[in-house]
Amino acid sequence: MSSIYEKYDLKQVINASGRMTILGVSTPSAEVVETVNYGLNHYFEMKDLVNKTGAYIAQLLGAEDAVVVSCASAGIAQSVAAVIVQDNDWLLENLHAAPLTVAHDIVVPRGHNVNFGAPVGTMVALGGGRLVEAGYANECSPEQLAAAITPQTAAILYIKSHHCVQKSHLSVEQAAVVARKHKVPLIVDAAAEEDLQCYYQFGADLVIYSGAKAIEGPTSGLVLGRQPYVNWVKRQSGGIGRAMKVGKEGILGLTQAIENYLVQEKVTGAQMVEKMTPFIDSLNTLSGVKARVVWDAAGRDIARSEIHFDEAIVGMTTGELVQRLKTGDIAIYFRGYKANEGIVEVDVRSVTAEQLNVIYRCIRALLEGEKKA
Ligand SMILES: *Cc1c(COP(=O)(O)O)cnc(C)c1O
Repeated sequence: MSSIYEKYDLKQVINASGRMTILGVSTPSAEVVETVNYGLNHYFEMKDLVNKTGAYIAQLLGAEDAVVVSCASAGIAQSVAAVIVQDNDWLLENLHAAPLTVAHDIVVPRGHNVNFGAPVGTMVALGGGRLVEAGYANECSPEQLAAAITPQTAAILYIKSHHCVQKSHLSVEQAAVVARKHKVPLIVDAAAEEDLQCYYQFGADLVIYSGAKAIEGPTSGLVLGRQPYVNWVKRQSGGIGRAMKVGKEGILGLTQAIENYLVQEKVTGAQMVEKMTPFIDSLNTLSGVKARVVWDAAGRDIARSEIHFDEAIVGMTTGELVQRLKTGDIAIYFRGYKANEGIVEVDVRSVTAEQLNVIYRCIRALLEGEKKA
């Protein structure tokens, strides 16, 4: 179907940035695509589909219950709405109609108040919550988290992500202890995480995953957890959830993707290192370029190639280089979070060995062109 690229005049992409929303996240397996197709071609009693697939996923993951949603962001907004509205029928339909008189503060460690592509705070506000920060930009201890809890607190929201400050911030287990002690629910956003069970086991009441990231499902999200919280999330389909409706194809596709994800053999960090080693060796022959293996900052078993450019030698800033590789004939996307430090990262999970070679040749051509000029 390369004609789709021609038909709409779209650029070919090499995705060396990981599971990125701006590039379409991931490419699900044939079996998941087939299940999506089956879903599209049949009717279901949707309530039945939601409940039975939720129970099926929950049983696979050892949680009380689960529900498929349209994406992790929708999962955050609906989880926040769930803990505020609970089973109040009037509030379900009037969440944003008037200032809330029920508890609606959502306590978030300050270093977790991030922009993952959209701000965490926007999803909290969408769910009717008022975001209250605990601790500081560089630290949040269990005591600092506890100190932010008041009778107005509806939940603690913990963002488990490489986007967050890792340093001097409490763990999910510690947040769960604080939540229990103060009798408030704990919501964990684990959107891009690979472990679908541990945060629930650590004591979270609701845990949110993105369907297309680690799980490689269709565009969708998963909320799993305890009762009555999951039921309250389901009820939101008659409230704000309707603006983020998930279809039968997404529900069935994600359920299948989760089942496959649990049994499939995972590509290990060591295998990623093996794949990237020739690439790193080639890069290190270029003057002004230093490449090496680095491990995921959030502790996942993911190895990436870190490329450091000596800007004085290569004759352009790293930001410029990243930009020019994006705008070439084939768009090459790196992880550019550290471009201001002269560093880019290559995530090899969605890149073939041949594509790594293309990336190397493009970098070499760019640097040689710069020197000739
Ligand atoms: C990607 C991400 C989200 C959003 O997930 P979507 O499924 O794209 O809505 C939320 N939180 C974190 C930490 C993420 O990495």
